[in-house]
Amino acid sequence: MEENQSGSGKVCQYCGRPLGTEMPFRCKYCSGSFCSEHRLPESHKCGGLKQVKERVARGEMPMFPEKRVAREIKPKFSSSYGGLGGLKDKIKNFFRKLKSR
Ligand SMILES: [Zn+2]
Ligand SMILES: [Zn+2]
Repeated sequence: MEENQSGSGKVCQYCGRPLGTEMPFRCKYCSGSFCSEHRLPESHKCGGLKQVKERVARGEMPMFPEKRVAREIKPKFSSSYGGLGGLKDKIKNFFRKLKSR
């Protein structure tokens, strides 16, 4: 029995399972080929994922679709609005004192 019957002879880089007729999943972070079980970066202890996460943390690239990003941003916005609101009140009070003089 020959190994390269499908031509690719690809195996999952994590578990070593021959992919055969299965479509190998290509990891876009480490560009490795994996079986359906290990296609996720978390599932094959992806070496590239760490770099991506670091880049995301530095704000160099968005990692997830807007939904998740929006959820992370929202609380920041609301808290900054609260801070601005408090500041506005302070300024208002300041001008009220000036006027009342
Ligand atoms: Zn695998
Ligand atoms: Zn990977």
